[in-house]
Amino acid sequence: MKPSILLIYTGGTIGMMKDPETWALKSFNFEELLLHIPELRQLDCKISTVSFKDPIDSSDMNLQHWQQLGDVINDRYDDHDGFVVLHGSDTMAYTGSALSFMFENLTKPIILTGSQLPIGDLRTDAKENLITTIQLASQTENDQPIVKEVCIYFEYQLYRANRTAKISADHFEAFTSPNYPPLAISGVYLNIDQSLLWQGTFDAFAFKKKPDAEVRTNPNIGETPELQESLPEEQMMVYRPEFINDVVILKLFPGITEPVVAAICNIPQLKGIVLETYGSGNAPTEKWFIDCMKKTLNRGVYIVNVTQCRGGAVDMGKYETSVQLKEIGMVSGKDMTTESALAKMMYLLNYTTSLADFKHYFEKSIRGEVTE
Ligand code: ASP
Repeated sequence: MKPSILLIYTGGTIGMMKDPETWALKSFNFEELLLHIPELRQLDCKISTVSFKDPIDSSDMNLQHWQQLGDVINDRYDDHDGFVVLHGSDTMAYTGSALSFMFENLTKPIILTGSQLPIGDLRTDAKENLITTIQLASQTENDQPIVKEVCIYFEYQLYRANRTAKISADHFEAFTSPNYPPLAISGVYLNIDQSLLWQGTFDAFAFKKKPDAEVRTNPNIGETPELQESLPEEQMMVYRPEFINDVVILKLFPGITEPVVAAICNIPQLKGIVLETYGSGNAPTEKWFIDCMKKTLNRGVYIVNVTQCRGGAVDMGKYETSVQLKEIGMVSGKDMTTESALAKMMYLLNYTTSLADFKHYFEKSIRGEVTE
């Protein structure tokens, strides 16, 4: 039986063409995308397609789109062996991270890809990205998919999605995974390093469910926790698509002022701050700054500390300039990317009920997003 792959088009450069009048890039009908790649017919898999009704530039991505995408995958989870998401590269690392948190205990691959040049361009990178992504999503061993996590494939490298960041607006090599090696490098052979794949399973019912939080599960598994718990672990895929976006990323810079920090910390309804600090998690030691952070934490806003550095990890307490952050109760983002930390915060804000729970899950690897 040939693997069945669902190709989901959300928008992005990969499916864009030049408007003949304005020369600006805009999305075009998904059917035309397939016309441009007749090679897809040669692949040893069955491809079905579905497109967002109104394809978007990924700069327009929001929580509704994340959920729309998650719903498409969740609704058709049992009908396909793998999912390929065509997505603009600009916010692909955020969407990839968000999808990784939405789906617990995946048993099938979800691989995002896109391109720097439109599919119709002579020098396009879209064809290789798309064809190889489909091949990776179709790889099986003993009739089981090899990849069982959310990945990004771009310019010959397969990455764990929640480890990535977009680093170039114009190089074909647009992504990096600073703290985790690529899961596969495409060359003459297309071998996935299986020792790097996410092996962990996560106790799907570990979260104390908030009474108002909607937990939707794979329809074919059913929604009763008791039933779910009685099923073998590999069938325990759980879909949790709700995120809370009353959050902000605050990037420190030399000279940042008290009114700016205070204004951000006092945003009404604010529930979480991803604080981008220096080096291994360092921040100004000035009293106004620490007081502001303390006051914000005390009023119930969670603050996580991630580094502005592209590689390495936060280690609060290593330098004097981070000792106080640890003392006042800041959560460590360790070696998480900002993109992943933001998505994880938005996810955990909805599915945890206390700071202790939030901190526990935030600092722990639940989808391979952080080195423990
Ligand atoms: N602006 C585009 C987008 O993210 C760029 C791309 O597709 O790579 O949708």
